[in-house]
Amino acid sequence: MSESRLEPLLLGQRVVAILETGLRTATYKLGSLMALIDYAIEHVPDDPDASVEVPIPDLAQRVLELYWRQVRPFAGKELRQSTQARARIPRAAMELRAAAGIGTGGASLAVAATRAPTVYEKALDEVTLCLAQQPLQRLQRLPGATVSDCFLFEDSFLHDHVSRSTLRAHGDSIVLGPGVATGLARLAGLLKPALEIMWVEDVRRMNRFLDEDVPDVAGHLFGRERISLASVREPFKDAFGARCFYCDLPLAVDNPVDHVLPWSLLGIDGLANLVLACRRCNGDKRHSLPATSIVDRVLERDRDVLEAIAAEIEWPTQFDRVVAAARGIYRSQPDGSVTWAGVRSSQRLDLAFPHWWLDIDPR
Ligand SMILES: [Zn+2]
Repeated sequence: MSESRLEPLLLGQRVVAILETGLRTATYKLGSLMALIDYAIEHVPDDPDASVEVPIPDLAQRVLELYWRQVRPFAGKELRQSTQARARIPRAAMELRAAAGIGTGGASLAVAATRAPTVYEKALDEVTLCLAQQPLQRLQRLPGATVSDCFLFEDSFLHDHVSRSTLRAHGDSIVLGPGVATGLARLAGLLKPALEIMWVEDVRRMNRFLDEDVPDVAGHLFGRERISLASVREPFKDAFGARCFYCDLPLAVDNPVDHVLPWSLLGIDGLANLVLACRRCNGDKRHSLPATSIVDRVLERDRDVLEAIAAEIEWPTQFDRVVAAARGIYRSQPDGSVTWAGVRSSQRLDLAFPHWWLDIDPR
């Protein structure tokens, strides 16, 4: 065990302390931290105390995904995400939307990447540089401090004007210190909802018109509209039958589409993480972690069928990400944690019980 390893709770306190101190001028710190947490979940190392290398372009892709839906107009206006006039990340997202012919429509970032690959690469590059020059080098710095308190990653090569070639010389990546990835994955369930609340507060502060009679800003920033998941419903019914994935009862016409690994913990809405559920199961499960036997069943669905639906409705399966996330989430839970096993039914987590997806290599 490394001496410099921070206990997860202490790590969480340091993260929150940095975020709660001083007014943010942009939501980028929150976005990069969310991306870091998601990356950590999907790359929990076998040795819980190991360091983990994080490619900045991978974070950039996750950050772009976060802003992708947020740049759409809300109550008829474009929401400010920064106190500066030229907000680089939302602008990169808007330019990609325009180039892909998506405008302010609901199509996903993955669709845009397929339709306008060159502009997509350019957007990723711009966000990579922006993360290195702005939030990543300020993430661990208290207001007024001239140096960082590197409790997450070493950041001395990052600064306001860091160039693309300097980043390349550092392998385009940052390295999470010993135990940090495991700690972040373990704390995800606590940190992510807190980060969302801070993000909503920041957006309200930067967009004064929201102070009046406010519609659901949080829903716009982080919600999943029923309508966007609706296109999955019919193809899933055709492929897997019109029955609830959890309880097997026949489904109503407008049944919910459920995220198996909860959306509040990890924002993966690839087909591999989606199932059809009845209202009762969907309402009872809410944000809880499903029993591992449920994860077995969802990952054992016919992949060819999922890929065929993916091609038909332009909606990626994200199968590998779902597997990696499932592994990371469960491996970072304490043994004996309560999981959801069906309506009014729970199961204690037993990590000694074998599951193929718990044992794959995260790299
Ligand atoms: Zn059900």
